[in-house]
Amino acid sequence: MANPNEAVAPNNDFFGDVCQFFDHAAQFTNHPKGLLEQIKACNSVYRFQFPIRKGDSFEVIHAWRVEHSHHMSPTKGGIRYSEMVNEDEVMALAALMTYKCAIVNVPFGGAKGGIKINPKNYTIAELETITRRYTVELIKKNFIGPGIDVPAPDYGSGEREMSWIADTYYTMNPGQLDAMGCVTGKPIALHGIAGRREATGRGVAIAVRECVSFADDMKALGLTAGLAGKKIIIQGLGNVGYHSAKYLTEYGATIVGLCEFDGAIYNPDGLYLDDVVAHRKETGSILNFKGATKEFKNSAEGLEQECDILVPAALENQLTEANIGRVKAKIIAEGANGPTSPQAADAFLKRGGIIIPDMYCNAGGVTVSYFEWLKNLSHVAFGRMDRRYEENASTNIVNMIESMTGSTMTPLQRSTIIHGASELELVNSGLEDTMIRSYHEIREIKMRNPKIDSLRTAAFVSSIDKVAVSYMNMGIWP
Ligand code: NAD
Repeated sequence: MANPNEAVAPNNDFFGDVCQFFDHAAQFTNHPKGLLEQIKACNSVYRFQFPIRKGDSFEVIHAWRVEHSHHMSPTKGGIRYSEMVNEDEVMALAALMTYKCAIVNVPFGGAKGGIKINPKNYTIAELETITRRYTVELIKKNFIGPGIDVPAPDYGSGEREMSWIADTYYTMNPGQLDAMGCVTGKPIALHGIAGRREATGRGVAIAVRECVSFADDMKALGLTAGLAGKKIIIQGLGNVGYHSAKYLTEYGATIVGLCEFDGAIYNPDGLYLDDVVAHRKETGSILNFKGATKEFKNSAEGLEQECDILVPAALENQLTEANIGRVKAKIIAEGANGPTSPQAADAFLKRGGIIIPDMYCNAGGVTVSYFEWLKNLSHVAFGRMDRRYEENASTNIVNMIESMTGSTMTPLQRSTIIHGASELELVNSGLEDTMIRSYHEIREIKMRNPKIDSLRTAAFVSSIDKVAVSYMNMGIWP
């Protein structure tokens, strides 16, 4: 008889990879061994299963929620819907969330969830049943709540799933004032926040823009500073990949390659993103796109084409020892979590390349999730209290300048000065500030210590130090 737990047995070593990066960075800190062990370990791993009815039969769904670190509450992290999900993967992703939150100064511990299904094999009604039952299981074990553990979208899930989670939580906690803070990435109509959907990709684009703005760093790669004209290949045209491509294009870069699960397309002169998306909507695939000069049935070949920057934004373990030697990009911007294996990262760095590490590069999502959580706790949209007040104050100043100088501003000049910030503008401003500051912080750590070989190691040093300080402040370590 087959082992009923076979499907939940870890089948790779992603958590081991994260720990390997951690151990490498830990040597550049001076924290006691026991404290480092505590920071590295996953605090709580909840593995569970439940039945659902599918047609005339029943199916057992395997699921996880891992809370990696309780040095801050609540814990925070997305829920992955994928048939490849396993315990090791969820543990690795939860650990990355702890380090990610620390890097961008978001006051959460790290967590992650996983439901082992391919969403494409289920009806919307079945997905709703699975999501609601998953939420109930978390509630029963106290693994969800605005002050406990706050999920968000990840690979295979989005606003729809988050709204089912919020509704289930509220149904089981009637009258709980802050109930809507139990999950982020909700639709705006259900207490979500403007800018969350695109936040991770926008953050990736800001991270890349910041990285290429340092002329000396670019010179060492044989590149000029700035994004204008930089050629970019993106893997994964989902939430993170699409929005990364969109904002990188807005900042002046050219998308020359796109890789999806069923193949890749390339044009050295550029691919029009919206045309590719329209083509995929019509045909179900990015292949056979007229604007491409080359296409590859083997998607991985798309990663190896000529470009300056490669943005893996699909899944982990995409760049390994097996293919890193053929990757032509000089910068890898990790939109996905864990796309580069430690061996591949080593080889790429030895060649002089720059890796903008996942734990910083894709932190835009959790940053704006933090803003959404704050909005839910304060029960007021950003800008609501002061937008009109600011506009009136600015109008008074403009009127005074006009009367003192005797000149009149154009309507465009007036509205540019008077305009009060909307929620979206405030969110984007907070996101941009966070991504820029964090990049400088990581780069400075690297520059200060020549033995620190990469931005990833520097990012780990930064987060280990911050988590260690939290433990010390709790009085757990002297
Ligand atoms: P998504 O489900 O919206 O999109 C993933 C895309 O990748 C899909 O279009 C899928 O078809 C494609 N894909 C799958 N396998 C592929 C392959 N082998 N080659 C090329 N493309 C492939 O997921 P997402 O939310 O964009 O997440 C992508 C990655 O970003 C994950 O690693 C996730 O953990 C990470 N991430 C997501 C967020 C977020 O806010 N959604 C935040 C931080 C990190």
